[in-house]
Amino acid sequence: MTSVTTHCPYCSLQCGMRLTGRRSLEVSAWEEFEVNEGKLCRKGWSAAGLHGSRERLTTPLLRDRATGEFRAVGWDEALDLVAARIGALQAVHGSDAVAVFGGGGLTNEKAYQLGKFARAVLRTSQIDYNGRWCMSSAASAGTRALGLDRGLPFPLADVERTDVLVLVGSNLAETMPPAARHLDRLRERGGRVVVIDPRRTPTAERADLFVQPVPGTDLALALGVLHVLVASGAVDADYLASRTTGFAGVRDSVAAWWPERVERVTGVGADQVRELAALLASRVRAGGPGDPGERARVMVLTARGAEQHSTGSDTVLAWINVALALGQCGREYAGYGCLTGQGNGQGGREHGQKADQLPGYRSITDPAARAHVAGVWGVDPESLPGKGRSAYELLMALGTEDGPKAMLVHGSNIVLSAPNAAVVAERLAALDLLVVADIVLSETAALADVVLPVTQWAEESGTMTNLEGRVILRQRAVTPPAGVRTDLEVLAGLAARLGSPVELATDPEEVFTELRAASAGGPADYSGITWQRIRDEQGVFWPCPDGPTPHPGTPRMFLERFGHPDGLARFHVVEHRGPAEVPDEDYPVHLTTGRVLAQYQSGAQTRRIRDLPDTGPFVELHPLLAMRLGTCDGEPVEVTTRRGTMVAPARVSEAIRPDTVFVPFHWAGVNRLTNDALDPASRMPEFKACAARVAVAPAVLPSGVEPVEVPA
Ligand code: SF4
Repeated sequence: MTSVTTHCPYCSLQCGMRLTGRRSLEVSAWEEFEVNEGKLCRKGWSAAGLHGSRERLTTPLLRDRATGEFRAVGWDEALDLVAARIGALQAVHGSDAVAVFGGGGLTNEKAYQLGKFARAVLRTSQIDYNGRWCMSSAASAGTRALGLDRGLPFPLADVERTDVLVLVGSNLAETMPPAARHLDRLRERGGRVVVIDPRRTPTAERADLFVQPVPGTDLALALGVLHVLVASGAVDADYLASRTTGFAGVRDSVAAWWPERVERVTGVGADQVRELAALLASRVRAGGPGDPGERARVMVLTARGAEQHSTGSDTVLAWINVALALGQCGREYAGYGCLTGQGNGQGGREHGQKADQLPGYRSITDPAARAHVAGVWGVDPESLPGKGRSAYELLMALGTEDGPKAMLVHGSNIVLSAPNAAVVAERLAALDLLVVADIVLSETAALADVVLPVTQWAEESGTMTNLEGRVILRQRAVTPPAGVRTDLEVLAGLAARLGSPVELATDPEEVFTELRAASAGGPADYSGITWQRIRDEQGVFWPCPDGPTPHPGTPRMFLERFGHPDGLARFHVVEHRGPAEVPDEDYPVHLTTGRVLAQYQSGAQTRRIRDLPDTGPFVELHPLLAMRLGTCDGEPVEVTTRRGTMVAPARVSEAIRPDTVFVPFHWAGVNRLTNDALDPASRMPEFKACAARVAVAPAVLPSGVEPVEVPA
């Protein structure tokens, strides 16, 4: 291998990079790739750290029933056993006795093949993926309001050409640092940045206006902003009439959200609510006396901070309402978008590993969609199962009387990333068969009956769809270690043993060609995209239908019409409900969770890379709270919720609200505490807000001294 251009294995920015070397793989800049212009964060620079790692799995592992220990076995023994037990369980309990759990980091080809394996080989409806816990609330809201969900309906670089950027619950300066250059360039152009977050993050440090609401109250803030916009006559009446429906109901509903009421609910001062609304309604580029100028271009971007709530979908709808009222969606360099998190969070939700979807972002309940996909697969549409359970509901059903008895997991470390994780571990233990395909012995793989070692990122090729809807190509750079197989080979091997009625290809480009056909005519149409076009054009934006002349792809959506059949965007009346669990006498503070710069998701990969600092979890808390507890920086504190307790060092910081503590979720612990309340539309769990009690860890108290409880 000389030099291969590819993309980072981690977040949805999918930064371009070059890989060189053979034995020791080196990462260098790919300056020409426009998304990151040669810039990477420390995770990207160190991404090759798992290449050649002693922690890589290179042989299938089978748990010995007598000893409970793993023993190394050959591939045939492992796959024969898995297929035999799947067959036996389905013969007794039916097709839905076997579940499949995927991940938002899988390539499009793997996500597609996982869906096909579940529906056409296993004929189970029980498939979902961890992307349900990432941006599903934004996906649900975008579909309802704009008619189609594509995280950013415009290229990321448009951020620097707007006038006012509003980031709701995004810490992109830490989660995707190369993207932060757009904020800097926007401000250099004279644009303004608003950051809304319970923590003063590195992103907030770049803001012209920082708004720090109580966790779980972003929706009420949006209602208050829209109230002020309506009251001040700042809405765009022409746009509302020509491009939207449903404004009247929303206008009436926000009448009850005057700024002082918003202040009481959100903790954001009424004056700041008005200041934010005034900024959004401002005018720019006035030509001189008598020329009021044009409406400022406003871009609202949400991320997990706004979305990972039991009210996440409604919160996103409330912010889309604001953008629509100002006439911004479908305007150049403006509108609404979601900053997707996982590497293939976008493509992973388009091609069939989601409980309710078929490839091309088609609905599994739509007869025409079922007929189309069944035609591509060569099966009877009637044989395709219906909609299955959402991710968390699927996990809760495992091992129950009418739930799955076996599960195959690809690309997900469930016992760290699921909410209420201790209960999830119990459900996994109740299975007759847990099979995990992974590159290392993750915490979930360690619980499995069978572990299948698979290839990682630089050892295989495949497409990803980044946060902009740009389909890009990860290219193989090195030979995989002896003994591992690709996920595609694993699925094909199992399909053959199960007597599958359909062929499962193992060549990723061949799978992509089939995916193109399956997506043709669907909302996420990839049929005009080829691997060669991706190489030639720095990626291709979907939708990109096939036709007699090459379609250019669609960098900017909604400029002419929205995705609903009538082409209009929809306002939705939404009400503030707050988190499912709010502080009370017993649990007097808010617990919120999130990410740190050096780690990615459950940390299964990044915690094993020596160049990345592995600090372990910590509890960020305000000096006032630390003083009341009698603790200081570095001392262990105990965080308890109704679901469990964890101990971690205190990190005292004025960046966080005094009524809130923050714990990153890259290490085991905090997701044993998080709440499993689900958003009714997206089925997103409430990772970002629950009620907690914080105390000095008992172990460090002198004997006879009782832990201090924080007063309500
Ligand atoms: Fe880029 Fe994200 Fe990788 Fe960092 S983790 S290099 S921001 S793709």
